[in-house]
Amino acid sequence: MTSKYKEYNTALLFVRFNSSHGFPMEVDSDTSIFQLKEAVAKRQGVPADQLRVIFAGKELSNDLTLKNCDLPQQSIVHIVQNRQKSENENCGVLPSNGGEPKSLTRVDLNTNLLPSDSSGLAVILDNKVPTPSDNSDAKYSSFYIFCKSSCQAVKPGKLRVRCKTCKHGTLTLARDPSCWEDVLIPNRISGICHFQNCSGEIAEFYFKCGAHPTSDSETSVPLNLITTNSRYISCITCTDVRTPVLVFPCIHHHVICLGCFHLYCVTMLNNRQFVHDPVFGYSLPCVGFIALLYLLCLIFIERAIMMWWLRC
Ligand SMILES: [Zn+2]
Ligand SMILES: [Zn+2]
Ligand SMILES: [Zn+2]
Ligand SMILES: [Zn+2]
Repeated sequence: MTSKYKEYNTALLFVRFNSSHGFPMEVDSDTSIFQLKEAVAKRQGVPADQLRVIFAGKELSNDLTLKNCDLPQQSIVHIVQNRQKSENENCGVLPSNGGEPKSLTRVDLNTNLLPSDSSGLAVILDNKVPTPSDNSDAKYSSFYIFCKSSCQAVKPGKLRVRCKTCKHGTLTLARDPSCWEDVLIPNRISGICHFQNCSGEIAEFYFKCGAHPTSDSETSVPLNLITTNSRYISCITCTDVRTPVLVFPCIHHHVICLGCFHLYCVTMLNNRQFVHDPVFGYSLPCVGFIALLYLLCLIFIERAIMMWWLRC
């Protein structure tokens, strides 16, 4: 877990004080949240004990250090000054004791996405020891997004949350999201907004590209069918074990690698074979269905050749 931090000892944070102005701060990754509060308090001329540090829907407690809060380089951290104590002190506080602290960067929404066993065509084709071509970012992140700005590619994403009312990242969550529905369907998760005079209680989730620093407005579309191939399931088409993969929302949860999926989309588009779905618009059926049709066609052709050969 700490491997990401071995590369550097200092972290560059963007501190947003009372959601107004942001300023960069270079801090040691061993810096505690209390030390961060003291540094910001000194800079802003306010008492340190009136400050709350909020990152990705959690209030960070004083004795945590930056490296065990999962704060990647160039994260935006909200620091709010609160003169009065909140009624619900424990809402969304990232604890410093009792096991590994879990932040939004660690939430796994894909627990039900991959098939529990390699069922369907995948298992028939799979006859080698799986070793996915892994990359550490994919292991670190369980979300994927399409970055249409600088990357123009599928990249690991960052899940972030803001207050639905004031749109600031000063909201702490009442509970963590546990599935895609929790983050994609609005108004499912509540919280407390710590921005002055805001009484917002609804969480609004959004996604950012994890490959580079992003501004507040640079959000990305989450790709909820794409996941890290944690169960080493082979691609239904090329049989390679790759990661990340796309899991079709069919009953078998057929798995396809992104290269094959791209090819499948281009082929279907060229053959005008996208089908209209009343909910999703133009879409594609599971490749497993197409593979089955292809297999049936092959059997039919083989039979026809056999009949022709017998007659001759
Ligand atoms: Zn990007
Ligand atoms: Zn708010
Ligand atoms: Zn493939
Ligand atoms: Zn399928």
